[in-house]
This record gives sequence, C-alpha cells and structure tokens, in this order.
Amino acid sequence: MSKPLNVLFVTSEVEPFVKTGGLADVSASLPQAIKELGHEIRIAAPRYGSISERKFKIHDVIRLKEIEIPIGEQKKVANVNSSFIANTKAKVQVYFIASKEYFGRHGIYASQETKKDYADNDERFIFFSRGVLETLKRLGWQPDVIHCNDWQTGLIPAYLKTIYSNDPFFKNVKTVFTIHNLAYQGVFPAASFKKTGLPDSAFTPEGLEFYGKMSFMKAGLVYSDVITTVSEKYAEEIRTSAEYGCGLEGVIQKRKSHLHGIVNGIDHEIWNPQTDTLIATRYDSHSIESKSENKKALLKKFNLEFKESIPIIGMISRLVDQKGLDLIERISEDMIKADIKFVLLGAGEKQYQDFFESFHKKHPSKVGVYFGYSDEIAHLIEAGSDMYLMPSKYEPCGLNQMYSLRYGTVPIVRATGGLEDTIVDVDSATSGTGFKFKKYEAKELLKAIHRALKMYQDQNAWKKIMRNGMAQDFSWETSAKKYATLYRTLVK
Ligand code: ADP
Repeated sequence: MSKPLNVLFVTSEVEPFVKTGGLADVSASLPQAIKELGHEIRIAAPRYGSISERKFKIHDVIRLKEIEIPIGEQKKVANVNSSFIANTKAKVQVYFIASKEYFGRHGIYASQETKKDYADNDERFIFFSRGVLETLKRLGWQPDVIHCNDWQTGLIPAYLKTIYSNDPFFKNVKTVFTIHNLAYQGVFPAASFKKTGLPDSAFTPEGLEFYGKMSFMKAGLVYSDVITTVSEKYAEEIRTSAEYGCGLEGVIQKRKSHLHGIVNGIDHEIWNPQTDTLIATRYDSHSIESKSENKKALLKKFNLEFKESIPIIGMISRLVDQKGLDLIERISEDMIKADIKFVLLGAGEKQYQDFFESFHKKHPSKVGVYFGYSDEIAHLIEAGSDMYLMPSKYEPCGLNQMYSLRYGTVPIVRATGGLEDTIVDVDSATSGTGFKFKKYEAKELLKAIHRALKMYQDQNAWKKIMRNGMAQDFSWETSAKKYATLYRTLVK
C-alpha cells in the first residue's frame, strides 16, 4: 500500500460532542472510516460551552496554549483541548479550539433563548479557521489534506491561498471543501471582511465577495483545491439550477471539473436494528414480524392506540422550510382520512410546531407529536414505523431515509438530491425500496402516500419492499474509499 495520508477534518459540529444535524453524524463517521482504511486523520472543532469536559474526558494540550489569533486590529487568544471519538475499530483524535469569549456559550450558532444567530458569528468562525491553521503550526503536524466542511470552515482555503501561501509549513497542503448544505452560506456585511486579515484582492467577485457582502461559503468554493458535496444528484442540482444553487450556481458551474458528488454513508453500529439498545425489540430481515413490538412501544410513547393492521407514518426532522413541511400541511387533512397513524419528532421553527400541535389536537387518536431532541425516540420511530416521510424541497443527502431502509421502514420521499440517489422507486412488480415523487407539489406527495398505503394492503409485497431496503448497503466504507482516492489525486 502507498504511504498513508495525514488528513485534518475541520468541522463546526461532531457527534457525540455536539450536533444540530447530519453534519455531526458525518463528521464522526467519515473520519473513523478513513482511519480504518489506514490513514492518519484527526478532527478540529470549536470547543462549545455545551460540550461536557467530564463526560468526554477533555484535557488541555499544554503545547497548544495561548495561541494568538488576530481578529482585525485585535489579538485574541486560543487554547486547544483534546479528546477522542472511538468506535470499536478506530480512535480519532479531536482538537477543540477554545475561547471562552467566542465559544463558551451554550448555543452552537444561535442563542438558545432568542433563537437568533449570534451577532459575532463572523468573528467566531474567523477565529476558528485561523485558530486551526495556527494550531497545526504550533503542533508541527503537517497534514497532506485539510478537509473543510460548510461555510464555518470556508475561510481556511482562502487563508492558505493568500496570507499563508508563502509559509513553508503549508507549502504542500491541499484542501477539500465539502458542501453539506448550500443554503446556509455565512454571508456577512462587508465590514466583516476587515476582521479576516485577508488581502483586499480577495474582496472581489472572483474572490469571496457576494453582492457587496462577504460569503464564507463562497470563499470555500473559490479557494479550495477540490469541492465535494454529499450526493451526485445534489452536485448536479447546485450547479445547474438557481433554485438549488442559492445564488452560487455560477461559481459552482465554473468549478465543475473540481466538483464531486460522494454520497454519505450511515453508521452501521449506531443504526442497526439487530443490536440497537434504544428500541423495544431487536430484529433483522429474517424476523421483521418483531417490528410490531416496536410499533406497539412507539404508539405507547405517543399515547396512541395499537392495532397491527394500521400503518404508522413516521417522521424525524428539523422543522424548517427545507423539509417540505408546507406540503404536509396542505395535504394533512386528506392524508389523515386514511386509516393511519402519524408520528413526528422535531424541533425548529414555531410556525411548523404550531401546525403539528394543532394537527395533533384535531386528531388526537391518530397523530402523535414530540417537540424537542431525542435520540431514543428517533430510534424508536425508525424501528416502529411502517413508512417514513421525507418530502424535502431540497436534500443534499439526507440520512434518515437510509436509517429507515436499514430498519425496514419504507421511505416516501421527494426525488431530490440524496433522496433521489439512495431510494429506488417501487414499481408494481415490487422491486425498489421506497415511494418517490418528483414535482414539489402537495398533490404529488399525496399520490405517493396513497401509492404506499395501497401497497401496504398486500403484506407479502410490502415485506418484499422492506427486505429490499434492509439489504441495501450504505456503510461508510465505499464512500470513505472515494474520499481517500480523491485525497490521493490531490497529493500527487
Ligand atoms: P439535516 O442535516 O438537514 O437535519 P439529515 O437527514 O442529513 O438532515 O440528518 C438529520 C440527523 O439529525 C439525523 O441523524 C436525524 O435522526 C437527526 N435528528 C433531526 N431532528 C432530530 C430530533 N428532533 N431528535 C433526534 N434526532 C434528530
């Protein structure tokens, strides 16, 4: 085997320390999978106030104390803490860039009280990005590749191509920039640019300027050596359509030859119905009847009555526009006319919470809702539901549809991004793994739900679909190999 690579994976959230969405799952699983391939990979993340020192045995790295980071005219100080993520095979070191001022708060991107983004998010992630580079120098650990993720890390490629371009330490360092969600771009007023310390030449339309403002996401797109995103379909959507490209489709199209779609995997240890300790009864494709015990437990959790023959449609979601919740709202009364139960676990925007709350109040014997964050309920929904609903407006990759397949819970999804790539539509001959609809229209969603409900009546056919899904392999190994190959082409 050729020489193992050194990789630094930079992310603003990582399981099990801190999570708002799929990025945290990926930031834990992908580095572990890459390490299992024999490479040296470490993670850098901010040290948020919510990360428990005791629980994760976080310790100071003596060598990495009081690192000076310029923010505009000011000098701020970073300290570095360290911990590990470990599954049974690979142990990955995590460096936490710490600053009480910037990260010693409970929220990640937004205040938990006001739900508003922190006003100093520009400074927080300038500090983080520069802190990562300065940490590497102090550490004397030279990665071959720095793998950056989403806007919070977009300045790292920009720094390397400008103020660090003559620094011998970084001479051979290449960057990969992965888009997990293009809609969150980190756009700040022009005044924020001064705080970055980047040369004025970067504040142009060819650089990170975005209609008179500065865009962290654009910095990542323009200055990285290679761009990836988390499914092939999303890679196509974001460069060919204004709707998905969010104003950056031109920039992405220009870098087409450096853009790759690599679908996310799922953690087969955490999401495995055979070994899952958070569900009522464990099962596999040879014992799918045992799902009904989970169905019972799920309904009990939501105070709904159990009847074997009534299908449960489940959903776990951030309650935001992206997830197609307006479509569900529009068809809710039509959907609930059928003999079904509907359960939702979600947290997010008030308007959607209000809607689901009223939906539940109107149909208390059919609709169950839980607002908040709960791993336990998430696992129970995957295990206990018959169908899983994901009618996203856009979906870079999506994880829950893959968890659902693994648990024999048949996804009903909109054919976009990763949902298009990971779900095969069921035709009448019962090949396929789920029910897809194309146009973002309420009646199309309703049709897909009705198709699924009709198929459910034929339990033999339904079990075949469940088994088709359970036989899919979305483990990280395949995707991790693709990343490793990509790293290798850069380093050559
Ligand atoms: P996104 O990153 O857009 O939120 P993904 O499907 O990629 O969507 O990942 C979402 C992840 O967050 C999944 O692991 C899902 O189970 C989890 N999740 C979302 N909302 C909740 C919640 N309220 N409670 C527990 N887990 C949740």
